[in-house]
Amino acid sequence: METVENFNKLNSIKRNEPLALIPTMGNLHLGHLSLIRHAKELNLSTIVSIFINPLQFGPSEDFSKYPRTLEADLDLLIKEDCDFVFIPDDKELLHDIKNLKAPLNNFLCGKSRPGHFDGVLTIVNRFIEVIKPEFCIFGQKDFQQQLIIKEHLKKINSNTRLLTHPIVRDKNGLALSSRNGFLSKPRREEAAKIYSYLKEISEHIFNYDQDEEKFLEYIKTLKDLYQKKFSEEGFEIDYLELVNALSLESLKIEDKKILIAVAVNYAGVRLIDNICLTRSIS
Ligand code: AMP
Repeated sequence: METVENFNKLNSIKRNEPLALIPTMGNLHLGHLSLIRHAKELNLSTIVSIFINPLQFGPSEDFSKYPRTLEADLDLLIKEDCDFVFIPDDKELLHDIKNLKAPLNNFLCGKSRPGHFDGVLTIVNRFIEVIKPEFCIFGQKDFQQQLIIKEHLKKINSNTRLLTHPIVRDKNGLALSSRNGFLSKPRREEAAKIYSYLKEISEHIFNYDQDEEKFLEYIKTLKDLYQKKFSEEGFEIDYLELVNALSLESLKIEDKKILIAVAVNYAGVRLIDNICLTRSIS
């Protein structure tokens, strides 16, 4: 694996196959590694960036606490046969950077983390400008993030195509996340309830066979019921939303692709998860 730390070296890397960029903030786990494996299955070269992006953290968020485990990350990348790791220099990366405004920002995490997606998009866009990869790969764990970047790439007519990969979970169902390390083992077991509830909600929607005219009412009842359940289990809800999975807007009766998305604070840690389902409407 070749380490790339500046733009100059980026320009000289040998590209035998099409290149897939996989942006990360490090503290790598199987969720990240699954993105590399996905690229390998498609015979793509891989460039993983490791950069804890200061622009995507709000003033009261956990930037300084975010886990930094570079040595272990590099070992994992070598074992995965990753081709390149990009560890940009802050100064070079941020110099004269174009600050972008993210689309689809008025929903879900965009509402509760002002500026977060602007920061994400600004940096990812910079990576794409300097690396010019044929593909970039994102996890569906950050569903809104991949949608925003896809929308942006379309808008700027980019040659980089976005690929996604499903959420990788712990045995108990908890979505893998670098922030899970802030939870004790018993708390991680309890946090698995997040996925159980999402699955229950999706099953209720899937099995809905009542009057279609009353579907949106039913959705509202489900949302209220599960907000209560989450709270009773000690989750402090930021949002629990059932929305159109393409636009993130409120559901309409005819919507087929539904996103069930949740963000909670649990034991002082922000956790997000989602399920995307397709309804067959007769
Ligand atoms: P992060 O390091 O948290 O910024 O994540 C980097 C990339 O890994 C993003 O595209 C995430 O969506 C993806 N990712 C993180 N956790 C998971 C997971 N559990 N399953 C699939 N992808 C993930």
